[in-house]
Amino acid sequence: MSDTDDTKEEPAPTPQGAGAPTESVGVADDRAIDLILRPSKWDEYVGQEKLKKNLRVILQAALGRGESCDHLLLFGQAGLGKTTLANLIALELGANLKTTSGPAIEKMGDLAAVLTNLSKGDVLFIDEIHRLNRLIEEVLYPAMESRKLHLIVGKGPGARTVTLDLPAFTLIAATTRPNLISAPLRSRFGATFKLDYYEQPDIEQILKRSAKMLGLTVEDGALKAVAQASRFTPRTANRLLRRMRDYAQVHGKEIIDTDTARKTLEMLEIDELGLEPHDRRILEVLIDKFHGGPVGLSTLAAAFNEDKGTIEDVYEPYLMSIGLIVRTPTGRRATEKAYEHLGRLDGNQSKLL
Ligand code: ADP
Repeated sequence: MSDTDDTKEEPAPTPQGAGAPTESVGVADDRAIDLILRPSKWDEYVGQEKLKKNLRVILQAALGRGESCDHLLLFGQAGLGKTTLANLIALELGANLKTTSGPAIEKMGDLAAVLTNLSKGDVLFIDEIHRLNRLIEEVLYPAMESRKLHLIVGKGPGARTVTLDLPAFTLIAATTRPNLISAPLRSRFGATFKLDYYEQPDIEQILKRSAKMLGLTVEDGALKAVAQASRFTPRTANRLLRRMRDYAQVHGKEIIDTDTARKTLEMLEIDELGLEPHDRRILEVLIDKFHGGPVGLSTLAAAFNEDKGTIEDVYEPYLMSIGLIVRTPTGRRATEKAYEHLGRLDGNQSKLL
């Protein structure tokens, strides 16, 4: 495993440049592109340096002892690279990766099926682990701690518990909402890693690789504009790159230049900070309805006509990370920068009410 990036070692790109047919925009498309662009070597996994360094120690120690690695919990916003990391960890351990998710494990039997299908040394990746229900969690604890699966067989007075031994395995769990993970579950992980938003140069590097893989020529200015509007999230950056490709193709452009980038972002109503209409709307509600706050989450959610969890999980983290809103003990508050971004400061930098 190495932290150096070497895009020169890319597999031969499949040309799908500006001349390729337009594909429909959608989630399935984004999944497909995720798979195509997903780094398959550590060298290609850009950024998150501290995390990679700490992870390396754990992986090397486990490999050195010839034992399976501790269970690992990854948390961070969607698209920051948790699934990719799980793939790379399995690769590093020379293990098979089996993947499932919290919502896919509805019943005890679902979890039993997943666990009994594991072979020695396998890595089990459970995405969205916060969506496991508590009863299932209870079954997972002994499986994680002592590789025992306690199953209840039969019903009523005749029901009995059967205990199965499981092979040594490593659980990698991912979540966007660590605060929804119960303390007992959290305590069963040997290490927890937080994925941060990326730095602008990291995103540019990711975009360069993606452009190369997609056979696209992208001007530096375009690359910078997209990186800046990417919410510093690789998946979003890659998605924007595709939208630019569509725009370039429809407008008969051979290369993606700065003008194409700007027009694509305009078309998508994404501003230079990467804010989309709903992000700006949150700021507007906060400023216009509540004089900039502080305002409690429930009140904000009601005013915005949105679920509290969505505000907390999807919108707020980025707005907070770029300093447009802050959380205070009395609620959310729009910062000076938010007023400025929405053009609500007058010439004397006073708030326009
Ligand atoms: P998550 O599981 O956190 O939602 P993924 O691991 O699925 O995110 O990442 C989404 C996509 O973003 C990947 O397919 C890959 O193309 C890109 N990506 C994520 N992290 C990185 C990274 N560190 N370096 C390069 N590309 C990345």
